[in-house]
Amino acid sequence: MTRIPKVGNYRLDLEALRVLRHRYDARRCSERGCCCSTYEVVIGKRELDRITGWIPLAAQYQPGLIEDGALQNPFDQLERSLWSLDTDEDGTCRFAYRWADGQTRCSIHSAALEHGHDPFRTKPRSCALWPLAVSEGRHPVLSVADDAYTFPCNIRRRRRDPVLDPTVVEVVEQAFGKKFAADVVEACEAAKG
Ligand code: SF4
Repeated sequence: MTRIPKVGNYRLDLEALRVLRHRYDARRCSERGCCCSTYEVVIGKRELDRITGWIPLAAQYQPGLIEDGALQNPFDQLERSLWSLDTDEDGTCRFAYRWADGQTRCSIHSAALEHGHDPFRTKPRSCALWPLAVSEGRHPVLSVADDAYTFPCNIRRRRRDPVLDPTVVEVVEQAFGKKFAADVVEACEAAKG
């Protein structure tokens, strides 16, 4: 039986991770849809509290977060301790905004950068992770989002390379930190043979 590589509590779907190359380019977001207008972003209480604190600063990039001089509630409560980010009539996240050149950007990300915070530790975790995804449950699996290849920023590598593409390592590092990313690279190397 093949042993599934693990880092911390996460099992690694190496087959999926090894195939992916991710090239973020906000100018292409409107070509074939945008991740910020595709998913329901679900957050727990801790993320809700963190993001709530950033709304006034995010509103400087996305003025729609304020109406009649008052901050709006951009969350929908789904369950007792579960919320989703509200969307506009086009299904676009209320925190997304259009930059002058048509790029779609995240107001939480922009506000965090402006104020010297790590944007990937500020915005929702699922957003920081994308196009990767983590399954739910006691033994989560780090893999690639099912529909990742419907977006122009994600491509399948032609050559079956046993090592991860640097762009994937970068996403892992942004979401989990340098040590975790190094451990993932090592686990991938170890599983080569
Ligand atoms: S929080 Fe930011 S990155 Fe996440 S969907 Fe909304 S605009 Fe996009």
